[in-house]
Amino acid sequence: MLRSHSQTLVWPAVIDPRQGQVFAYLSQLERSQWIKPERLRRFQAGQLAARLRHAAETSTFFGPKLQGRVIDPNTAFEVLASLPLLTRADMQDAAEGIYTEPPKEHGAVRTLRTSGSTGQPVAVRCTAACFMLRAAATIRHLGWRGLNTMKTFAAIRANIKTGSVDNPARYRGWGAQMTALFHTGPALGLPINVPVHEQLAFLDRYKPAYLMTYPSNLRALVDQSPERPAGLECVMTIGETLSEDLRADFQSRWGIPLFDEYSSEEMGSIAAQCPHGNYHCTAESHVLEVLDADGRPCQPGEIGRVVITDMANFATAMLRYEIRDYAEVGEPCGCKRGLPVLRRIVGRERNLMKLPDGSKFWPQFGMRDPEATRMVKQYQIIQTSLERLEMKVVADHPLTEHEQSWITALVRTKVKHPFEVVIEQVEGELPKGPNGKFHEFMCMVGS
Ligand SMILES: [Zn+2]
Repeated sequence: MLRSHSQTLVWPAVIDPRQGQVFAYLSQLERSQWIKPERLRRFQAGQLAARLRHAAETSTFFGPKLQGRVIDPNTAFEVLASLPLLTRADMQDAAEGIYTEPPKEHGAVRTLRTSGSTGQPVAVRCTAACFMLRAAATIRHLGWRGLNTMKTFAAIRANIKTGSVDNPARYRGWGAQMTALFHTGPALGLPINVPVHEQLAFLDRYKPAYLMTYPSNLRALVDQSPERPAGLECVMTIGETLSEDLRADFQSRWGIPLFDEYSSEEMGSIAAQCPHGNYHCTAESHVLEVLDADGRPCQPGEIGRVVITDMANFATAMLRYEIRDYAEVGEPCGCKRGLPVLRRIVGRERNLMKLPDGSKFWPQFGMRDPEATRMVKQYQIIQTSLERLEMKVVADHPLTEHEQSWITALVRTKVKHPFEVVIEQVEGELPKGPNGKFHEFMCMVGS
């Protein structure tokens, strides 16, 4: 085990204050992924204790909650489990008490502002050390895909501000951190708001081997192009839930490997898919809990809400943050990585449909059934009350009364509830949210 330069970043160790730290992290992460779960948890306990002690001493929000507790590696998980969940509302209303002054060796602090798709921005302060660990995790996960890094990489994302088919954003290599450490092929980028047919023209013209984008954008690409773009060998998705539905359509139409990374703006890379298809949690930076309705840890096969603690970020005490996603706990993975396993990310809370009887589920509307796709090119359904759905539809002809009734009936059948369905026909393409993402379904009914 490497000797750490820092008393508070005990594991993974700090090799050198700046240069080479991403690589130093990466070389540790390459090894730590194979550590057996019990031992991995002991390493986590050491880092978690350091994070909790710092929060106890410096956070006015967590200080009182941790007062008088013995915090050491033997008690760290127990102490963590006794904390209430940190909500997005806490991050908005009590942020000053959640921000903490990091020890000097954690480096400069930057603020990340998450736009969110529901218009509730959150500002998370993040240290240089935390960013470097996140970068190392992202590079490790790229390694799981078995890519040839000399080939061309393309990204279509919200953080790319300019670029068009004729003049895409061009990068010397696959991102600053990768380029600093490895030789890579060129990378190209397009902003997420480029129309889908232009994105397809871009893929056709430059023929990147790899594409990284959001699931909602991939959905639009696959819908408009049943044929795989020539030269494309692998697609990586980030930032949103990848539905089983999309995965199946992607496989049947494009038929190339698809890897998903579970990440968020607040937390960085939370988990990523290995070649066996399971998601492995980034246990070196995060403690990920999946809790049932009573707040108890879920067992393999059970679905619960995801709660995340960032052990590496000492500028914001993200302890037991309720990220409002649901996931299914997995069995140990055949790839033999010791990192905790999620079978799948099931969905986000805002995409849960709520019925008057109190039941909740992630709805399917049947809009990809062959009959429906002849009419509906794109759609978005917003649940505005327990009895009402507002549906925006893009179609290539004005929908008749009969067609609208047919769509309404299909929606009601699929969700098994006689909602009032208000259909509005929209020209062109439906707009994306402020973060560049698009939700086919959103529930605006409070829980
Ligand atoms: Zn695996």
